[in-house]
Amino acid sequence: MSIPVVPSHARVVVIGGGVIGTSVAYHLAHMGVRDVVLLERDKLTSGTTWHSAGLMVTFGSTSETSTEMRKYTRDLYARLEAETGQATGFKPVGFIEVASDLDRLEEYRRVSAFNRLCGVDVEEIGPNEIRNLFPIAKVDDLHAGFYVKGDGRVDPVDVTMALAKGAKMQGATLLEGVTVLGVVTKNGAVVGVETTSGTIGCEVVVNCAGMWARQLGAKNGINIPLQAAEHYYLITERIDGIDKNWPVLEDPGSYGYFREEGGGLMVGMFEPVCAPWNIGSIPQEFSFGEIPPDWERMTPYLEKAMSRVPVTLEAGIKKFFCGPESFTPDLKPLVGESAEVKNYFVAAGLNSIGILTGGGIGRVIAHWIVNGEPDVDVTAMHADRLHPFQSNPEYRRTRTVESLGMVYQCHYPTKSMSTARDAKRSAIHERLAAEGAYFKDVSGWEGADWYAGRGKTPDPGPLSFGRMQWFPHWEAEHRATREGVILMDMSFMAKFRVEGRDAGRLLNQLSANEVDGEAGRITYTQWLNEKGTLEADLTVTKLDDENFFVVASDTAHRHVATRMKRVFERGHAFASDVTSGYAQINIQGPRSRELMQAVTDADLSNAAFPFRTAREVAIGFARVLCVRITYLGELGYELYVPTEQAVHVYDRLAAAGAPLGLRHAGLKALASLRMEKGYRDYGHDIDNTDSVLEAGLGFAVDLKKPDGFIGKEAVLAKKAEGPLKRRILQVFVKDPEPLLYHAEPVWRSGKPVGYVRAASYGFTLGGAVGLAMIDGGGEVVDQRFIESGDWEIDIAGKRYPAAASLKPLYDPTNEKIKA
Ligand SMILES: Cc1cc2nc3c(=O)[nH]c(=O)nc-3n(C[C@H](O)[C@H](O)[C@H](O)COP(=O)(O)OP(=O)(O)OC[C@H]3O[C@@H](n4cnc5c(N)ncnc54)[C@H](O)[C@@H]3O)c2cc1C
Repeated sequence: MSIPVVPSHARVVVIGGGVIGTSVAYHLAHMGVRDVVLLERDKLTSGTTWHSAGLMVTFGSTSETSTEMRKYTRDLYARLEAETGQATGFKPVGFIEVASDLDRLEEYRRVSAFNRLCGVDVEEIGPNEIRNLFPIAKVDDLHAGFYVKGDGRVDPVDVTMALAKGAKMQGATLLEGVTVLGVVTKNGAVVGVETTSGTIGCEVVVNCAGMWARQLGAKNGINIPLQAAEHYYLITERIDGIDKNWPVLEDPGSYGYFREEGGGLMVGMFEPVCAPWNIGSIPQEFSFGEIPPDWERMTPYLEKAMSRVPVTLEAGIKKFFCGPESFTPDLKPLVGESAEVKNYFVAAGLNSIGILTGGGIGRVIAHWIVNGEPDVDVTAMHADRLHPFQSNPEYRRTRTVESLGMVYQCHYPTKSMSTARDAKRSAIHERLAAEGAYFKDVSGWEGADWYAGRGKTPDPGPLSFGRMQWFPHWEAEHRATREGVILMDMSFMAKFRVEGRDAGRLLNQLSANEVDGEAGRITYTQWLNEKGTLEADLTVTKLDDENFFVVASDTAHRHVATRMKRVFERGHAFASDVTSGYAQINIQGPRSRELMQAVTDADLSNAAFPFRTAREVAIGFARVLCVRITYLGELGYELYVPTEQAVHVYDRLAAAGAPLGLRHAGLKALASLRMEKGYRDYGHDIDNTDSVLEAGLGFAVDLKKPDGFIGKEAVLAKKAEGPLKRRILQVFVKDPEPLLYHAEPVWRSGKPVGYVRAASYGFTLGGAVGLAMIDGGGEVVDQRFIESGDWEIDIAGKRYPAAASLKPLYDPTNEKIKA
């Protein structure tokens, strides 16, 4: 075989010729980047793509980004043949997801309401209609089915070939038989790739190497914590009466899905406890490969799945197929520019939906490369949300056992992953455990979610979409914050010490707010990109002229670090990650001053220590950075304590707090308290597509700063457009009973105008409360718009009267926090 000749230069090199790589190349070429070279180690599709089941489903996600990508992908696969002459095998035979228990019924009703808002034509149907559409399914125990007529299946190899052909027709070069050995970098940026056919100089690399992406990325220190796992389907012999036009039938409750294949049925599976494959490394030569199936492990699941279509239990088995697919720690893909190397993009870890989102992923990455920013919310899939320890072999081995099965679990909103736990503990973990803390996974940290009480073992009880048995604990913590004083551990927050002669100037360039004013002040600010949309939402505390403290959330940790690294190249400023160096203990509530004053001699009176003051104070033997700020909407203090003194300080606080009725409050209380006050949370209710003004954060933008800031021009341009026609509002359900979680459609005067991005239960307000991005449909979203409309929120298909507000529903005048 002749060795392929590679060009000496290309603007973009795409690594990997599966559905993702070809889609990236296709979209780049269509967006005018014709100087793109795709390199495939063996043949196109030879990794995972060739053996995919090819389900093409738009239903099922409560992420707008994922749903839009699915819709886009389906439309693309439907039209590619006309463009390229290469069929994709798209057959819109329909898709039904069945609910075999009441919790799934609730889940799918909630998802349906959201998916309909996004334009997915989903219909709830009864057992008889399911039987009409898929006559050999057992339906007597089913509550309902959720039917999307236009969904169906594709041929994954044909899809990939059509994308490849379309890319070539636009001028892209696709080379098979070329392995990328590593990426060449200079000064922290991509300059080329080394291949088995020589070096190619390039500006941008996209790692679409599927399950090999992690080990390829590791050569350049790029963290891509995905892991291949065994993934199964079975194909039966011919079964009389099977019609190839029957819809795809999915029954997550029995771990199985069904579609016609060669006159028989394919029975695909997502078993609840699964098996990672090749933790060490993926063999370089594995091509069009299969994994010998583990019959013993899979038989119980197989039997359960097949019982949904009992005839499959009697039919002969033509093939029991096992192939590897990549899974990630949180079941979201790894997409975007890496934190480690500039212009090194990743698009991998597709968690078994690589075909049905492949078109969308390629479009998003291409747009990002061409325009410098993504045009969809990428906060949940940005590769930089995950941490390097999640690439550890033991982490991957333990977590992957759970992640594949999560696909078909009922997606209870309060469920936390239960594997790969106890990776990171706060310094006061044992003390919190003694208070009956129920811990959940917070980016690897054990985060106290709620407290059962001293000496009690927390029992979360069964999961549900309704009120869980820990509700009373949550409510008590919420009320204690509003009425008394609480202690909350938030040591998982990302903390950076920023030093240098230019630290203030460069932080001010990053920040839309003025962060380089008086020393000893904390400032809430956003970091924007050139388009004026949000990159981060955090606080900057000025300690002295050359010394700052930056605090961001756990998922923004690496994104924030990367932005500082890029901007600090322009001067003398250095960020040190001191997350491990400080515990963060928050004392909040109207009696917090009383408590704090009992443990320190520092004068904490309103005059001496007003809102936004940051000062080092003495507590016992410790020096503590005490910041008067709140994320809960009350008078309060955040304490940054050297880790080795955290227990000491905690003990002082606990002792002084006892006579004041100090309670411990967890992250559930954090969510409900901040939501009542309308405080934002990046990646939940605000994201990279929101202009800082639409996000309702204009108050934190200082347009008068002498040297401006990144994104200022865009903010000015947005302002010049006039009053906002798209804006975040706080929404509140008037009936105290129903609960909001996320993705519930918001209606105004009989028309959908947006959906709830994040929500909680407002115990003080007396009902569910959330934040929703509202589109005025051409009208200005202002007080008049709010008052002239009738507001409702759709929860699982039923609309409830609601209120909407521009101002925080709790303490709109900030009296409490300034008390
Ligand atoms: C049994 C099974 C059923 C599935 N069913 C569905 C389904 O119904 N619907 C759905 O949407 N998804 C499904 N999937 C998932 C889907 O197949 C994958 O998500 C998708 O194929 C991943 O595509 P990819 O391009 O990321 O990876 P791959 O297809 O693996 O492509 C990566 C490519 O990179 C190449 N490569 C690796 N290293 C290098 C290197 N160093 N240099 C050059 N090239 C390199 C490889 O040879 C490979 O071709 C299924 C998966 C399995 C296993």
